[in-house]
Amino acid sequence: MSEQTIALVTGANKGIGYEIAAGLGALGWSVGVGARDEQRRDDAVAKLRAAGVDAFGVLLDVTDDASVTAAAALIEERAGRLDVLVNNAGIAGAWPDPPTAVTPDGLRAVVETNVIGVVRVVNTMLPLLRRSAHPRIVNQSSHVGSLALQTAPGTGFGGPSGAYSPSKTFLNAVTIQYAKELGGTIKINNACPGYIGTDLNGFQGTGTPADGAEIAVRLATLPDDGPTGGLFDEAGPVSW
Ligand code: NDP
Repeated sequence: MSEQTIALVTGANKGIGYEIAAGLGALGWSVGVGARDEQRRDDAVAKLRAAGVDAFGVLLDVTDDASVTAAAALIEERAGRLDVLVNNAGIAGAWPDPPTAVTPDGLRAVVETNVIGVVRVVNTMLPLLRRSAHPRIVNQSSHVGSLALQTAPGTGFGGPSGAYSPSKTFLNAVTIQYAKELGGTIKINNACPGYIGTDLNGFQGTGTPADGAEIAVRLATLPDDGPTGGLFDEAGPVSW
């Protein structure tokens, strides 16, 4: 089996995910570029390869069982294991999304991608992760998923959100439970990338996608005595 670290980043064809793939690739890792669209996958892989990254394409729609199963089979065949999984794919849904404007279908779609998609990918990739000597899972969360920050007076982390913010809170809760079950063997942590200008927010964010990738890359490269079951931004631990 190859000594090269094998990573998979979901939603890596653009935005923060693309920069996470670039950041992990810069470490000399082999990076699976998860994308739900073949053309967008191929374009991102070509761009990363031109930048010197050992990138390979992984067609992967996190909302689709068959797609995720096929992605795991591709990695199994290519590498026989997975060292690092970055669950970055996410959607904002209809925006703005104050609770009084949220529809059941809209809420379902956001949770399907941002929460259930992560669980689907983690559970499908677990057999491959268990074959790694230093398995790491990083989930892309957000400051707006922190109940502590949402309820702290004057912090101003976004307006009222009935679907997107709660989906990240749900994801945080799921991560805590994974950490309890997995113990220290597979580290799982959540990242808050900051307010980053991408398609997700109509490029309103103030940071660059490369800025937003930094914390996920750091959590993907944690040493064996590093934390698990935590929420982190560039400055360190973030309260749930
Ligand atoms: P982008 O919209 O630029 O990228 C989102 C990525 O997710 C795209 O590659 C998109 O693919 C992919 N994606 C969406 N749905 C699916 C799906 N069903 N299956 C597979 N891939 C999918 O947004 P960002 O880069 O900003 O967001 C990345 C992550 O960071 C998200 O989880 C987001 O919630 C989180 N985040 C972003 C913040 C920000 O300020 N930007 C702040 C906090 C968290 P496609 O191109 O096909 O649509």
